Amino acid sequence: MTPSDDTAVLSADGLTKHFPVRRGLADLLARRSRVVHAVDDVTLTLRRGRVTALVGESGSGKSTVARLLSQLYPRTSGEIRLHGSVSTVRGGRAFRAYARQVQMIFQDPFASLNPVHTIRYHLTRSLRIHGNGGRTKAELEAALHALLTRVHLTPPERYLDKFPHELSGGQRQRVAIARALGANPEVLLADEPVSMLDVSIRLGVLNLLRDLKERLHLAILYITHDIASARYFADETLVMYAGRMVEGGDSETVTQRPAHPYTRLLIESAPDPDTIQGSAREAAAHTPEDRGGGEPPSLIAPPAGCRFHPRCPAAMARCTAELPPRLTVGDADGHWAACWLYDPATVASSRAESRAESSRPGATRAAASRPAVGKVAS
Ligand code: SF4
Repeated sequence: MTPSDDTAVLSADGLTKHFPVRRGLADLLARRSRVVHAVDDVTLTLRRGRVTALVGESGSGKSTVARLLSQLYPRTSGEIRLHGSVSTVRGGRAFRAYARQVQMIFQDPFASLNPVHTIRYHLTRSLRIHGNGGRTKAELEAALHALLTRVHLTPPERYLDKFPHELSGGQRQRVAIARALGANPEVLLADEPVSMLDVSIRLGVLNLLRDLKERLHLAILYITHDIASARYFADETLVMYAGRMVEGGDSETVTQRPAHPYTRLLIESAPDPDTIQGSAREAAAHTPEDRGGGEPPSLIAPPAGCRFHPRCPAAMARCTAELPPRLTVGDADGHWAACWLYDPATVASSRAESRAESSRPGATRAAASRPAVGKVAS
């Protein structure tokens, strides 16, 4: 196999994280302990040379997934596999060896760089910790120049002795990416890497990450609340809602033919010029409640069944009690949604209803847009 194939590098199976809630007087009297269900049963695979987008609104648990995958947080349950072997590290040498292969890029490039140290200091530290600084001063200097050139900060000597506050937001994020590359990793976990940057420079940083994916065959997890950028940048898109994954598939399919009502809501909210006209027309035809208005649920006591059911315009009785599994959607390879609308029994009955509707005199063609047949995904 070549390094550019899509071999699985890092995967998670049933990843779960519950944070304990500090007990108040009422909890002590009732002798109960409560937890925040930040992430429940997340399964994903990051592949060499591919970008996987993890999309969802604030508080959906996507950043917690990144911290679990980087092993900054211990997990409540589930497995993380690096090159197929289960990996659990708790600091020390084992964590350093893991971090050599799995690096994280944070949302705020200013907070992630120490303001009292120069760019040279940050990059040298990363290179030395991970054993990539060479043996001589000249080798270290060459490695520093190579890192800055790789993130398109050229000529490198212009940036090496600057402090973070002397750079723009985009340049600081490029330095943060260069620092991550100092470990020579196989996986980059990018947690909202462009959301704090000016709109005009976001595209440049995304293009840089894409270039690194192609040239270094990195597996990249791209965390974002902006589903339009996932379409542009990612090969695969996964959607999270209230700590659970609700839809996944290749980015083109998920963004152009979203199956889960929550994904449709996200797309309707995104200012994407390709979809905005159709979405605006659709939005105008529905009340806010129809469009899934309302707040995300409490993760201390999440709703039973499908967590989206209090906001879902298509909710059925079973949605309030039964948790939907991943169900295959239509014919697109690998497209799934955790939604009862794609249960084969639901699809069959909705088709029977539309046949009956269309055979009635004066029937409209409204039934033509029923969901495609689904089956339980393996
Ligand atoms: Fe809506 Fe039910 Fe599907 Fe959940 S399972 S998204 S409530 S239709």
